Amino acid sequence: MIIGDLNTTFTLSSETTYLKRSVMRDLLKLAVDPDIISLAGGLPASEYLPVDEFRECMDAVLLRDGSRALQYSPQWMPLREWIATYMQSLGVPCTAEQVFITNGSQQGLALVSRLLLDSGQVAVTEAVVFTGIQQVTAGRGAKVLTIPTDSRTGADMDALEEAFQHYPKPRLAVLVPDFHNPLGVSLTEEKRAQAASLAAEYGVPLIEDDPYSPLRFEGDPLPPIKTFDEGGYVFYLGSFSKMLAPAMRLGWMVAPADLIPRITVLRESIDLESSTLMQRTVCEFLSRGLLEVHLRRMNQVNKERCAALLDALQTHLGDLAVWTVPTGGLFSWVTLHDNLNTWELFEEAVKQKVAYIPGAAFAVHGGFENTMRLNFSNVKPDAIREGVARLAQVVRQSL
Ligand code: PMP
Repeated sequence: MIIGDLNTTFTLSSETTYLKRSVMRDLLKLAVDPDIISLAGGLPASEYLPVDEFRECMDAVLLRDGSRALQYSPQWMPLREWIATYMQSLGVPCTAEQVFITNGSQQGLALVSRLLLDSGQVAVTEAVVFTGIQQVTAGRGAKVLTIPTDSRTGADMDALEEAFQHYPKPRLAVLVPDFHNPLGVSLTEEKRAQAASLAAEYGVPLIEDDPYSPLRFEGDPLPPIKTFDEGGYVFYLGSFSKMLAPAMRLGWMVAPADLIPRITVLRESIDLESSTLMQRTVCEFLSRGLLEVHLRRMNQVNKERCAALLDALQTHLGDLAVWTVPTGGLFSWVTLHDNLNTWELFEEAVKQKVAYIPGAAFAVHGGFENTMRLNFSNVKPDAIREGVARLAQVVRQSL
């Protein structure tokens, strides 16, 4: 049997055959070549990850809890309590009982998808979206209705309403409210309120996938969609990956309390539980007040790097491209002239030792060949400038 990259004599499940191989995974391998300036990744700045602080927290947990920190155990209540208080600080009424700890936001996406969606049913996503969201919708055999996203105000609410009117009714919709991956745009407050009330009006569960809101480096925070959730249709997903470190593999879901027992059983069938040691260590980090210090430093670094990227784009590609101007997060989305194809330019870019992700990799139903996602967080400002200069040269040569 040959399915895409699968060449096997085994008969595979339909879920496995629907899943597309992640181009990003292949492209990210390039980031390990030290000579390549990789604007392709989505990683926080490695040199600012809190290694020493984390080591001290883990030591403290092992000294305090001993073998209990190495046992199977239920979700760590002090962490659920910290998260509930954090959600309240964002304006979301939330109790610790509504908080379900996951292994990152991706597991939250996978769980809600498996909770609500069967193969062949309808799901709604933005037309350009993080590949992990595609994996839990199209990748699970859903029929995906897509909605466009405005580069300044976020997902189109008229299109969302139209999608909600579809028969059969969508089983779920996914939106990324802040510093969208890959578009870098945030949904306006007005649209957040609209999204929540549309979900309630049409009875469609809405997943608010929010790994990036703590990464704001400019402007005032916007309330999560969940703050407008009077109907109780919004599932909020948070993550420690970007606000603390991806290797924690910890995130959370705020779900209706009556669904938590079902979600718990579903999750048990996958990996039983998140690491006891990691939950306690992250909780120690948080209760020492280290998150604020870490985020302040990270967001300052991101701000400087984003400014370097935007400045370099203006200098080198000002006449050939337009791009989104993020006020947080990790990405800017660049659109070149219509007749340029960023897949075709990619090989030459790598020869010139610069990498990016061709925007079409994020397009659910194709198109967007003249776009690319650029990451600014894990490259030093001088290298960003050099990378964009090389990129501009590649683009100009192709004209
Ligand atoms: N959602 C979005 C929008 C993302 O960009 C990512 C990671 N890049 C994830 C979810 C998954 O992140 P994690 O599982 O590490 O929390």
